[in-house]
Amino acid sequence: MDNVITTFRQLYVICKQKNQQIFETAIENEVAQGEYTEYQIRMQAKKSLDAMKSAINSGLKSTEPSPSKLSGDDCFKLQKRFEKFDSILGTTAQKIMTYALATSEQNLRMGTIVACPTAGSCGIVPSVLIAFAQDNNISENEQINALITAGEVGRLVANKMSLAGAVGGCQAECGVASAMASAALTQMRGGSVKQVINAVALALKNILGLTCDPVCGLVEIPCVKRNPFLAIHAVTASELAMADIISKIPIDEIIDAMEQTGKLMSPLLKESSQGGLAKTKTAIALEKNILK
Ligand code: SF4
Repeated sequence: MDNVITTFRQLYVICKQKNQQIFETAIENEVAQGEYTEYQIRMQAKKSLDAMKSAINSGLKSTEPSPSKLSGDDCFKLQKRFEKFDSILGTTAQKIMTYALATSEQNLRMGTIVACPTAGSCGIVPSVLIAFAQDNNISENEQINALITAGEVGRLVANKMSLAGAVGGCQAECGVASAMASAALTQMRGGSVKQVINAVALALKNILGLTCDPVCGLVEIPCVKRNPFLAIHAVTASELAMADIISKIPIDEIIDAMEQTGKLMSPLLKESSQGGLAKTKTAIALEKNILK
């Protein structure tokens, strides 16, 4: 059975008609495909949530370097900084940044992470979702609802375009992760369906054109640090959406624009490590060093 919801417009109309939140419509739609029950869907989401929490906890405690030795202690450094000085953005933002680094660094240590939507962008959704939930007593059930909301966002974008950096650039990886995180956050904050979808639109619209130019061909530089940046981007999108600041371009058109932008992007800037940051003097020197 084909999935009946293929655009955000359809999702919005159905949510309105049935007076449902996005996660309710997403679950109902998935159950209608006949493969999973609601219980199974929620249990799978819980499993992912638990894996995300475990990756954060392991990442916070470790300074083990990545195999390339190019990274591994950024999360530790940020924690040390925040022990002495608060971020001007507040303590939840501190957690978001450290959790994003913790998860990304765990990924490089070959730890278990949840690709959401990809491994390179794995720190964005968990950091925003879990930091906010911890600081605002959000129940596990509500966290699962938020994760299913984020999943529905990823599914709808993936319905139109590839989420691989090699096809769409980093806008399709970290950009989509940020949009998913903004949806989860807006859901947990009690945002309406319109506000959740608008947060997604604002997050994606403002990341169009982000290239994928990994140094030394590794999902490491700039990927690790890109995660905390794009996690805070998700918070900004949610703040604007909660203030009813509307994206003048509707989300489905933004996704079309993102797909077109990905096609127009040079192959040198799509995970080939043939351009951009990957071809800087320092990147070339680092690559020679690693090859030695
Ligand atoms: S820069 Fe490329 S490899 Fe790194 S996270 Fe972005 S899309 Fe993935």
